[in-house]
Amino acid sequence: MKYTVITGASSGIGYATALAFAKRGKNLILAARREDRLEELKNKLTKTNQNVDVVVKPVDLSIPEDVHAFYESLDKYDLETWINNAGFGNFDSVAEHDLDKMKTMLRLNMEAVTILSSLYVKDYENVEGTQLINVSSAAGYIMIDNFVTYAATKFYVSAFTEGLAQELKGRGSKMQAKVLAPAVTETEFEQKSLDVEAFEYKGNAAKYNTAEEMAEFMLELYDSDKIVGIVDETTYEFQLKDPMFPFRQ
Ligand code: NAP
Repeated sequence: MKYTVITGASSGIGYATALAFAKRGKNLILAARREDRLEELKNKLTKTNQNVDVVVKPVDLSIPEDVHAFYESLDKYDLETWINNAGFGNFDSVAEHDLDKMKTMLRLNMEAVTILSSLYVKDYENVEGTQLINVSSAAGYIMIDNFVTYAATKFYVSAFTEGLAQELKGRGSKMQAKVLAPAVTETEFEQKSLDVEAFEYKGNAAKYNTAEEMAEFMLELYDSDKIVGIVDETTYEFQLKDPMFPFRQ
């Protein structure tokens, strides 16, 4: 039995992606810190998709040792797809950074993505039909004022994943690596980035997508041979593209 791993499945894009992949009949391994949310999602999924197996894995991916232990705990599963989606943002100038929050962000947005991508590629690069999708951001292709460090972590995710995709192609590997780059999407993202109790997108964000729209775009990218699925920052058009960073062999 094959499984799709989704990190950050307890809310937002990861949660909606779990629902969309289950609709396709994909068995799921769901990871995040909030176990109650993951169990609630599992119940919802198994009620509506009785043939789908759902495994819940509570883990804090900002702790490198736990990232390794999480990967090792999946040893007995056959992993068809790996989606590194867990991440968070931060709005303020570099001079105003809360450095503890920044260090956690660097570990989650970059270190965990690198560790999990590397371990997955090592084990599965020659397995037909496997895919690694790393969730970056439109801010992983354009630097944004007062959002610099977050955007830089997403530049890393975009550049790393595009480079990996080219490396895999060059080696004739069977695995495909892809980048999903959403623009503003209605999730818990703004609330966490601003450190506020709640955030209302309607009225406060000029344009945004729903998490469900982003999950549909994730599936479009999954079905495509293109490497990058990006939401245009101004038009909000969904675009499937070839790698955008310069690459030298
Ligand atoms: P979200 O609703 O806040 O979801 C973030 C997910 O990451 C949650 O499931 C959260 O679960 C998980 N997470 C956070 N810290 C974690 C940790 N230390 N260990 C394990 N899991 C952790 O936000 P979202 O918008 O869906 O974010 C998903 C991805 O999209 C992120 O990578 C984000 O950077 C990217 N993105 C979002 C937007 C946007 O506007 N929403 C735009 C571009 C890119 P727990 O809290 O339960 O751990």
